[in-house]
Amino acid sequence: MNDIYSSQSFEGAFTYTGKDLGARYTLAKTVFRLWAPAADAVFVNLYATGSDEEKGTANLGHHAMQKDVNGTWIAVVEGDLKNLYYTYSVTRKGVTVEACDPYAKATGINGDRAMIVELDGTDPEGWENDSFTPVENFPDAVIWELHVRDFSIDASSGISQANRGKYLAFTEKGTVNSHGQATGIDYIKALGVNYVHLLPVYDIASVDEIKGGYNWGYDPKNYNVPEGSYATNAYDGNVRIREFKQMVKALHDENIGVIMDVVYNHVADAETFCFNKIVPGYFSRIHADGSYQANSDCGNDTASERTMVRKYIVDSILHWVQEYHIDGFRWDLVGLIDYETINAVMAAVHAVNPNVVFYGEGWEMCSWTTKDGYVDKMTIQNNADKVENFAFFNDTLRDLLKGSVFDNTEPGYVSGMAMNESDKTRLEESFLGQSHWGSANSLCPSPAQTVNYASCHDNNTLFDRIVLAAPNASYADQVKMNNLAAAFYLTSQGIPFIHAGEEMLRTKPDGKGGFDHNSYSSGDAVNSIKWDSLSDAAVMDTVEYYKGLMAFRKAHPALRMTSAAEVSANVIPMKTGDDYVLAFHILGGNGEISDGLFIAFNAKKEAAAVTLPEGKWEVHVNAENAGTTVLKVAEGTVTVDAIGAVMLVKTVKDA
Ligand code: CA
Repeated sequence: MNDIYSSQSFEGAFTYTGKDLGARYTLAKTVFRLWAPAADAVFVNLYATGSDEEKGTANLGHHAMQKDVNGTWIAVVEGDLKNLYYTYSVTRKGVTVEACDPYAKATGINGDRAMIVELDGTDPEGWENDSFTPVENFPDAVIWELHVRDFSIDASSGISQANRGKYLAFTEKGTVNSHGQATGIDYIKALGVNYVHLLPVYDIASVDEIKGGYNWGYDPKNYNVPEGSYATNAYDGNVRIREFKQMVKALHDENIGVIMDVVYNHVADAETFCFNKIVPGYFSRIHADGSYQANSDCGNDTASERTMVRKYIVDSILHWVQEYHIDGFRWDLVGLIDYETINAVMAAVHAVNPNVVFYGEGWEMCSWTTKDGYVDKMTIQNNADKVENFAFFNDTLRDLLKGSVFDNTEPGYVSGMAMNESDKTRLEESFLGQSHWGSANSLCPSPAQTVNYASCHDNNTLFDRIVLAAPNASYADQVKMNNLAAAFYLTSQGIPFIHAGEEMLRTKPDGKGGFDHNSYSSGDAVNSIKWDSLSDAAVMDTVEYYKGLMAFRKAHPALRMTSAAEVSANVIPMKTGDDYVLAFHILGGNGEISDGLFIAFNAKKEAAAVTLPEGKWEVHVNAENAGTTVLKVAEGTVTVDAIGAVMLVKTVKDA
């Protein structure tokens, strides 16, 4: 079956390029178009509600669809169908299945039936004036990775009870924790990040929208519809759309961009996914024996290389950009998606909005890719040069800083790793945005293609990981280790990325004396942001330190270069004679007005002295303080605090 789909004769006969798949509503009629090349008959079914289990349920009959061009079926239903729900019944070889519309723009409860929506009617007040000023270059971004429910579900968020865990939590200003400290969107604004990256917010399968529940959401059900459990009403398909837009607008009103985590590499369940019900197995890669290829570890991999899957992904992303004003996309396991598809997506999106950013997990996922020749076509780190403008998570830097994610007690640079010259070189390369990465150990081609980070939703939180690697260190030293990691990746060339709450020393205790390293379904107690933790002095000092590092980064364009050539010409690793002490002289570059920067890191438990280039230097960052004010002036040598960083700005020459 899969071989037939990929054949030239099938592609030639059944490639539909129109923009009208799905339901197109007008007051007088609604036009339905479905791609179902293998079907013998198709009907569109109309319902009053999204399920049979709610008030007002009624079956409103069905309408036969007519075979049209390129494997599509079409039906024109007269009358005002606004807010009615629908499905398709597809008959093939005598068997009929009922399925939601893959192109559904709205659904009812739990995403089982599509809804006929008038999208303009879902726009919140002021949506026509919604605007966000994007960064000029991707390295100007600072990304904060957040789960919608984690953000506000804990009572300490100060968010109103009705909006806790919901999209609307982002619309509440002036919220405080029980100590009167700012929380919610005010906190994000004050932190200084300029993009919020949201874990999956498309319709997910794992959370029952009636009963509620917790999941990260890496289990897509309807790609073009917001998740219902984050809406105040998941039954009426309009509500989740309107409230999602309110969230976007609230963030844009603070000039914070919104990035969506998208999971096109697999679906929640390949057998029941609507696209596969309508066109059996088309959406998925299937072995010759009929079993689903599952290199995602999620039961099925998406056949992104097929024309109508590629089109589907392009159309889906465009929908989020145009209808919801989304500013960026983080691609889950993008190493399973071919780069022709990624380039098609970026070309289509950038024609509409050239400032939308793209990045993802470019791990090489599987041996079969090599065997089947796919590896050369996939969006992996080794192929970074094939996807200009697409950035990749930098696991080389991540693991060097805190230790491997596959051995959670192995120390990294900040937590007591035994350093050698090779480790030091790899760290220096990473600071320059020139990491060696991927299975071919290739070189990251541009600082605009490396996402620099120490932690994310996966694996242990940074602070938990440090405690596991350095259990005998004092709490104060563990905090210093955390801040040394932050100082490193927040000033490295590339795009910095912060796991929300990392700056609050976020922890995920497992209740058994250890830490939860995979909390995707562990519930609120483990996952929620505990806003009252801000009352701890060490936590608040850490938040302030991160703020200061971001302010320092923002003040110096030389930390945000956009090409490897510019970095190589301007960022000079200095000899320190010590594998634990790294130092860099950063010349002007990229419009920098100062005569340069000097940045040094010291992972040892004792302070270190480092020789400065000639002239007077202002210290703006040390192990305790970070920002843009002068802490002291140094000349000749500078002291790098124990387990700490120092960052200096060359005093502008005397006239
Ligand atoms: Ca859902």
